[in-house]
Amino acid sequence: RRSSAAMNNSLAGAKDVSPEELEKLAAGVQVIDEQKMFTSSLPLYLSSQNLLTAGFSYHVVAVFGSQSTGKSTLLNHLFGTDFNVMDAKTARQQTTKGIWMSRAKEDESMNMGKNILVMDVEGTDGRERGEDQDFERKSALFALATSEVLIVNIWEHQVGLYQGANMGLLKTVFEVNLGLFLKDRSTTHRSLLFFVIRDHIGDTPLVNLSNTLIADLTRIWTSLAKPPGLENSEITDFFDFEFTALPHKMLQAEKFIDETKKLRGRFREGIPAENDSLQDQFPVGNKDGIFLPAYHRRIPADGFPMYAENIWNQIVTNKDLDLPSQQELLAQFRCDEIAATCTAGFNDIIAPFEEQAKAGKVMAGLGPAMKQALGTAVEGFEEAGGRYHKAVFERKRDELRKALETRLRSLVVGQFTALSKRAVAEFTEDVTNVLKLAANSASSTYDFAKIVLESREKVVSKFKEEAEECYIPGEATSWSSYDTELEGLQKDIDEIAARLRGEEMKRLVARLERDIKTKLQEPVELEFKRMDETLWDRVWKTWQDTLSDAVGKFETKSRSFNSTDEETAVGTWRLRRRGWAVLRARIDEEVLEGNLLLKLRESFEDKFRYDEHNVPRVWKPTDDIEGAYAKALNATLVLIPRVSQFTLSATSSPPDVVAYLGEAPAADNFDEEPVDSTSFEILSEAKQHDLTQRFKRMADSVFIEAKRSAIGGVAQ
Ligand code: GDP
Ligand code: MG
Repeated sequence: RRSSAAMNNSLAGAKDVSPEELEKLAAGVQVIDEQKMFTSSLPLYLSSQNLLTAGFSYHVVAVFGSQSTGKSTLLNHLFGTDFNVMDAKTARQQTTKGIWMSRAKEDESMNMGKNILVMDVEGTDGRERGEDQDFERKSALFALATSEVLIVNIWEHQVGLYQGANMGLLKTVFEVNLGLFLKDRSTTHRSLLFFVIRDHIGDTPLVNLSNTLIADLTRIWTSLAKPPGLENSEITDFFDFEFTALPHKMLQAEKFIDETKKLRGRFREGIPAENDSLQDQFPVGNKDGIFLPAYHRRIPADGFPMYAENIWNQIVTNKDLDLPSQQELLAQFRCDEIAATCTAGFNDIIAPFEEQAKAGKVMAGLGPAMKQALGTAVEGFEEAGGRYHKAVFERKRDELRKALETRLRSLVVGQFTALSKRAVAEFTEDVTNVLKLAANSASSTYDFAKIVLESREKVVSKFKEEAEECYIPGEATSWSSYDTELEGLQKDIDEIAARLRGEEMKRLVARLERDIKTKLQEPVELEFKRMDETLWDRVWKTWQDTLSDAVGKFETKSRSFNSTDEETAVGTWRLRRRGWAVLRARIDEEVLEGNLLLKLRESFEDKFRYDEHNVPRVWKPTDDIEGAYAKALNATLVLIPRVSQFTLSATSSPPDVVAYLGEAPAADNFDEEPVDSTSFEILSEAKQHDLTQRFKRMADSVFIEAKRSAIGGVAQ
């Protein structure tokens, strides 16, 4: 898994590890050197042993005892380690002080536990050599704070020597342990003291030896000055004891090897005596396993190097060891490291989207990517950080989640905006295109409301579908809900639909205006053929009929657009005004000077050249040509003022066009051309005068022609 692998790398350090370095680590690592410095290679060592990802599935064992009592020899035989052993021939003393660590070689045939880290504590015999007991004390404290089992290595002949070096050492162990407990009373901090009695001859049974040791240990315990609150504590409140004996390595070499081999089998998980319910958690036959859950220090393997180092630094600087706060500090630090690793994985997926987001476009695949990135990061964190101090872990997890969600949130907001923008654009384009198609096709039978509804449904459901993808399930995820954006989108679409409808209505008005124009063309011409007193009544009626027909059509269509009453009212108002303007233009066309002159001439000639039976006159010199001329002239001249003023016969005044057209609707400005609905003068005085003159001249020439024809007719 990515998280674990990344964790390994982060702890081992980003640098490449040379083969030489790994070779050097093969035999183990000097955790603390003679200068009391803590190694920097522990993470590397644990990762080279594939132990960083072990979680709680590992064990730490330390050995204690006077120098040159065969401790390292014992460890090497027990655990297959390769700790330094004093050369028997040269008897060169091991003078270096320090703590070494090596992983046990696992022995499946002996059912030995897995992932055992063994610590060899060297140079703890300062008292024998008259040196200060500083290192002894410090290493004891370190071993107690980190190890589950302390192997106490002791020669048989030292058993019962209450004043001996070993007992002094144990006194130190008990003392520092009491110190630890002052700060750490809440946790069940127990350790196992595993006594290995060396060079056991066999005369004294093991049980006797262990009784002697227990008696001595109890005496040491009683003699200790205990801190307040722990005055009445028993040694067994803190320690369990196990005893075993080994034969002389040199004298009974084979037996020694056999016994140590057997002993290996005890280094595995055991069942706490008081808790039978745990039976089935352990393999059958583990009854004598010595690793009990109560001994485990509950430091996840990947945090062990840091924990051990912090503990050592506290010890070296003579600070009071406070294990619970050390655990919290460790948890904080490790959780931050894990969070950084998880955030890096999150970045791999999310950073490209954050870059993309700057363009403000819809990002494909964002939803699934977000889920994957957040899921992997949070799960990875829970997996790697879940073993650390619970409160710290939970706080850091919430912090991580919040930080990642904040970043996702801004992506999601951008995505919603882009989705909404796209939906609006698509809707506008859709509707406009359909309208364009409809306008260009011959039939204008399309359903605007339906077009709008279908397109709206399409873009809204597309929006929802893609916005849904960005939904992150969980507690505090209302941030990924798109309700507000959807509401906004609906509103935007409403506005656009209204605007497009408005435009469509304008087009409809224009179409109907053209209709009115066509429809008025011939009827008006026809009405002007008869310019009697009813001329304007007829023109007015023709116009009203045509207009109400158009208004009716408009209202029907407008309703089919789902327009509001207001919008329909604006449209009809517009149409009426345009209709009036069309009529005025049509009239103006009809009364163009040439047209009107022709009409007057027709009227005049009708009366002058034809008799009352509509028979053409043939003038004779005796005819009253002057009289007929004057009659026809006057009958025609009255037409000029009549045509010049739009007047209805019933009222002798112009029609109430203002009332007919109605008030402009209250809404915003309608950018309509101004229409003159109050002036009904068709021809001005000057024009009338002009027209009269021209008409008279024309009539005169007709008269003269008639005169001539009368005389000419006589001459023939
Ligand atoms: P350490 O200083 O306690 O780690 O002791 P070493 O393992 O280096 O051994 C010190 C000396 O004791 C060496 O010369 C070993 O050969 C010797 N030695 C090891 N095991 C035994 C044993 O079981 N009995 C005796 N008598 N000597 C041993
Ligand atoms: Mg040694």
